[in-house]
Amino acid sequence: MSELNLVLLGPPGSGKGTQGERLQQDLELPYYATGDILRAAVREGTELGRKAKEYMDRGDLVPDEVIVGVIAERVAGSEAEDGFILDGFPRTTVQAEALDSEVNRLGRALTATIFIDVSDEEVVRRLGGRRTCANGHIFHVEFDPPERAGICDVCGGELVVRDDDKPDVIRNRLERYHAETEPLVAYYDERGLLHRIDGSATPDAVSESIRATLATLRMEEEA
Ligand SMILES: [Zn+2]
Repeated sequence: MSELNLVLLGPPGSGKGTQGERLQQDLELPYYATGDILRAAVREGTELGRKAKEYMDRGDLVPDEVIVGVIAERVAGSEAEDGFILDGFPRTTVQAEALDSEVNRLGRALTATIFIDVSDEEVVRRLGGRRTCANGHIFHVEFDPPERAGICDVCGGELVVRDDDKPDVIRNRLERYHAETEPLVAYYDERGLLHRIDGSATPDAVSESIRATLATLRMEEEA
């Protein structure tokens, strides 16, 4: 395939980050988690990085055009000439349009959007069961329980539910996710770019579905 320009979508707790890392290794493509590349631009003190920093220092959201600019700088670089994997952006259709026009301006286009679909119940089960110690060791009451309930196996510290993993917070995150992402799913579906992956399966099975989807895309391109 000439280029593989991918966007990853999925709710919190969908395993999107894990799949992104695996894809990066499988495909040998750069993985752009937008928070990370934004912080990198700030650290490197690029023009856009300095702009982003002004907003971040004030505690304001970094505007879309700055984020899109940071992404475009990366996409235009030689590391991304065979493609890239984008995670964490776009989150809204306005951002998706801005990303499209910037990527098109570079003479490129998105190849596919991989949507890792997980039900709200499963998200609540995954995130709500997490227990974390003060040193950041993470367990799960169901999938990865510590030997003694409430005590970290690694450091012996007390395991608690982080604020982010509390039921009310998870529900709020899910509500915001649905409000923002459902139009985005429709946006990519209309453009024939959306590939829905059942994210309720094991991480290995999800990786396998994504691989199969990309293999099909490649065959269609060659046909
Ligand atoms: Zn610990």
